[in-house]
Amino acid sequence: MATGRFHQLVQQVLRESELQRVSMRAGGSASVRALPAVSAVERLVDFTLGEAVAEGASDLHFEPQADGVRIRVRLDGLLQLRHELFPKKVYAVFLSRIKVLSRLDPSEQRRPQDGHFSFTREGKETDVRVATMPTIEGECLVLRLLAHGGKVWRIEELGLSEENEASFRALCAQPSGLLIMSGPMGSGKSSSLYAALATLASEQASIVTLDDPVEYRLAGVTQVEVREEGGLSFAEALRHVLRLDADTIVVGEMRDAVTAELSLQAALTGHRVFTTLHTEDACSTVYRLLDMGLAPYLLAATLKGIVAQRLVRRVCPECREEAELSDADALALGNEALAGHRVQRGRGCPACHGTGYRGRIALQEVLVPDDGMRGVVLRGEGLSALRREARRAGFRPLLADGRQKVLAGLTTAEEVRRVLYGG
Ligand SMILES: [Zn+2]
Repeated sequence: MATGRFHQLVQQVLRESELQRVSMRAGGSASVRALPAVSAVERLVDFTLGEAVAEGASDLHFEPQADGVRIRVRLDGLLQLRHELFPKKVYAVFLSRIKVLSRLDPSEQRRPQDGHFSFTREGKETDVRVATMPTIEGECLVLRLLAHGGKVWRIEELGLSEENEASFRALCAQPSGLLIMSGPMGSGKSSSLYAALATLASEQASIVTLDDPVEYRLAGVTQVEVREEGGLSFAEALRHVLRLDADTIVVGEMRDAVTAELSLQAALTGHRVFTTLHTEDACSTVYRLLDMGLAPYLLAATLKGIVAQRLVRRVCPECREEAELSDADALALGNEALAGHRVQRGRGCPACHGTGYRGRIALQEVLVPDDGMRGVVLRGEGLSALRREARRAGFRPLLADGRQKVLAGLTTAEEVRRVLYGG
């Protein structure tokens, strides 16, 4: 964030609210005429959002502390401090402005509120989701920034290893059956799903997507926005889509057993079904579906593949330097023999805000069930049996993909450890 301009605007907001106070004391009512056409707070909101969008932040956090408000941005998945002591007086005006923009009640400070508004910068529209929550130091505010009609990636841009890309492409080309993208929130699974879908969009294909909300727009595809709260549910929409003569159906997320069951039925009756699920890895996804009450024979008959994914930060290209893999890092990557191996690390520079990382890449694992794995499911054997069987078939887990990308200098062992083991 350009600190100078930010502080200048903060001072202007303070001066304007002082002016307003003086004129109120003099004339009785708040004299709006004394204020310029675009108030300082409007400029401050514009500037703050504009900067966050420009640097590619996904969220802005405003956290009241004892003597000021801390502002942090989420960049490449992690929070970074931008301002430590944003004056509470200015924050109050800032928060009111956000509440007005998102049609929330500005006078309500004791209850959490949520809303949204859209923000345009250089012709690009961003949907801003607003959430407030009363805390002991005042209301906190989180703004989530969702680019309107996010970029649809091509498969070759997803950072898949050569083997994984070949398996992924083969899965997309299957004429029917279920393909699942799995991973926690913010692991890029929707990006991969849409990259898969983009390979299928053509004049001959009939594709229907169900999403809540629609994040990516694709030409030639029928996109339906599902509203689980008080509107069209995934399950209800899916029942109708089956009558729309679609070849390929995208179920944005399999949130419940009914949706999962309907998705499998669609896959069984000759449709290609793409979906996402919040799960840790490819093998455990199978057991999540069985726990949802799906029949093992149905799953074995329809499941074509599962792609599990995580995003790791990429070593900053501006300040990268050679480093040696430590014993601990080699151990974390599952191969002690790699200690001392040459890898890359970011020293930290202005381009990466001193973090040594800039942008992100994905780690993937692709599970393609064969007869051996289907047998494990049909016989009702557990997760460890499936993992064993997958390994036998040459399945390369996320850790192996991470190891390969560390050795290629794309990311670091710390990053792989952070996303796979949380530390
Ligand atoms: Zn750097």
